[in-house]
Order: sequence, then C-alpha cells, then structure tokens
Amino acid sequence: MRGFSTRSVHVGEIHTLDSVTTPIFQTANFLMNPDKYKKTSRENHIYSRISNPTVRATEQKLANLCGATDGVLFSSGMAAITCSLLSVLSQGDKAIFLTELYGGTHNLVRNLLPRFGINCDFCQIDEIESLSLDGVKVLYVESLTNPLLKFTDIEVLSERAHHSGALLIVDNTFLSPYNFRSLDFGADIEIHSVTKYINGHSDVILGFATSKDNNLVNEIWGKMYSLGLNPDPFEAYLVSRSAKTLALRMERHNDNAKRIAIYLKNHPKVQNVRYPIFYERIPKCYERCPGFGGVIYCDLLTQERALKFVENLRIFKEATSLAGVESLVTIPSLTSHASLSDEELKRAQISKGGVRISVGIEDVEDLIDDLEQALSKI
Ligand SMILES: *Cc1c(COP(=O)(O)O)cnc(C)c1O
Repeated sequence: MRGFSTRSVHVGEIHTLDSVTTPIFQTANFLMNPDKYKKTSRENHIYSRISNPTVRATEQKLANLCGATDGVLFSSGMAAITCSLLSVLSQGDKAIFLTELYGGTHNLVRNLLPRFGINCDFCQIDEIESLSLDGVKVLYVESLTNPLLKFTDIEVLSERAHHSGALLIVDNTFLSPYNFRSLDFGADIEIHSVTKYINGHSDVILGFATSKDNNLVNEIWGKMYSLGLNPDPFEAYLVSRSAKTLALRMERHNDNAKRIAIYLKNHPKVQNVRYPIFYERIPKCYERCPGFGGVIYCDLLTQERALKFVENLRIFKEATSLAGVESLVTIPSLTSHASLSDEELKRAQISKGGVRISVGIEDVEDLIDDLEQALSKI
C-alpha cells in the first residue's frame, strides 16, 4: 500500500478518544449499507457532536447501572436537566417543580423556561403529594434534597403523575444509582450530575439522562446534538473507568457517613443532625436502599461557630461540590443559599450555622479525629 506523505493526515482506524469524525467508509454499520447517508443514527459515529463510540459505550454502561434501557450523556448535569426539560415541554405547557431544588435547576426554571412560554410552578416538599396535577405535563423532583436530605416518595408521585398523564423526572444525584433507582419505582426520566458520585473523583463535569422508554431517550438525544450539549469523549472515558468502582466507593461513603452522623448526633456542640438513619419514617421505596450516601447536614447554631469549625478542619476541605472521594464541607447559608433572605432561609429550614458535610472514602477514624479537634475549638 502506498504510504502517506507527512503533509496529509491519515485519519486511520476508528480511534475512540481523539477522532472528531470517522470516515464513513470505515464505520462498520455503514459498510455495504445503501441507506448509509439517509439516517442519523446513534451507532454510526459520523460526527462526534452527534455520537461517539466512547460516549456510546459509557452511556450503555450507565444506563445498565440505572436499570434503564438507554441514556444520553451530556457535558454537565445542568445540560442533562435543560435538555430533558426542553425535550418534553412546549410553549403553553405546565410544569411543577420542587421548591427545594438544586440551585442551578432553580435558576433555570425561574429565569429561562418562562421566557419560552412554559408555565412553571413551585411546590414545597411537604405539599407535593397532595398537589393537583390536572393539566400538568411534567413533575420534576429530586429523590433526596440538598442540603436537608428530605425524601420525595417516587412511588406515590409517579402513580399520581401517570394518573394525570404527566411525566415524572427525578434528579437522583444525591443517592447515586447504587443506592436507589427511581426508574424501578415509576420515574419516567432519571437525571444524574455525573460530576458527583458516578464519577466521584472531582475531576470531571458531566451529566446523564436515562429512561426505560427508548422513544423518550431518542427524543432527548436528538435535542442534545441539536443544542450541542455533547460530552467530551475523554471525560466519558474517565467516567467509564470511575463507574467500575462505584459500588465500592458508595459502600464506603455509606458506611463512613453513617458512623460520622452517629458521632455528630452524640456531640453536645452539634444540633439537628440530618441523615436518613435518624428519620422515624421513610417512604417505602427507600426502605431497601443499601445506604444514603455521604452527605450529612448539621447545625452549629451561629455562622461564627460554623466558620470557625470549617477553618479548623484539616482533612475536610471547604468546597461547594460534593460526592467525591475526598471529604468536603460547606456552609449553605454562605454558598449555595447565599441569595436567600433571612426570612427565606427560615422558611427553607436552613440555619445560618448550618453545615453540609460530604463524607469521602478516607479512613473513618481519621475523619472523626479531625471533626473532634475542630469541634473542640468552637
Ligand atoms: C451538582 C448538581 C447538579 C448540576 O450538575 P453539574 O454537573 O454541576 O452541571 C444538578 N443536580 C444536583 C442534585 C447536583 O448536586
């Protein structure tokens, strides 16, 4: 075979990591196919914004983890949320959202969707089960909320949504697919900020939307590439590695957080420790969860004490993210909920001395020693 000069770039075989586009003649599914130019498919990989072999393999892996039939990977959790909502909502439609939503989602729902004629209402978590869903197209919730770790009853809500012809979308980021699968309890679309537990190493920003309904997945995929919300294949590759240790990491997050929650609850300087093992009752759909993840909320009563505590921690780093292998801590009233007035904070039940801890996978005795020395200084 004739060699190539150094001036012409030989694209070569399909290389899953670095090729933006695969020559059509090399794409297995296109070979000998007379319709090859007609249809955009998720398997043809003609252009990386539309589909990519590494991304595709990761999507199938994550869909399996979620008990779904298929899914779509995105450049961020927010991209997955935006695209899922824009795929199922049209002008004039009505959607209801949980008030206690992740800040970015709250922002999207408040400031962007109404500009496209979508009617968005909010509902407090305590009222959502008795809310009328007449004429509602989408009900959007989080399975476990931030930062107070309240559950929404996915089984009850999906039944009510379907009774009224609405779709239930669940952001399941805080529990991860290891601890809970909302699709098994009737959710139509499950969303993850892959940035959090699924990747778990605080080195990637990606999102995922998944379903047991392939028509819905294809609809979302079509909007994903039209809007250009595609993930980076190298990040997808990192996530496909991370997914191999999801179960191991989650077991450790679950165990460490449980130990630490009990330690904090018995500490005289700490109030209102919120972690699901202390709840009198949890919705039935969560009774078989192997654990509840690494996030704990507690109250140190004043912002001054919370700041002093955070400043004195050595292993726990102050940062706004969560769900990585390293332990993090943040003060919601100063970060994620900084825009809320005193009145709004009170209504949201978030104290100025409230602290959110994201327990990592370090040695739990080391973590407890660190908390002990920091608490002794406040
Ligand atoms: C972080 C987060 C998001 C947003 O994800 P990004 O990957 O940062 O875009 C959405 N929902 C929840 C619950 C989150 O924690």
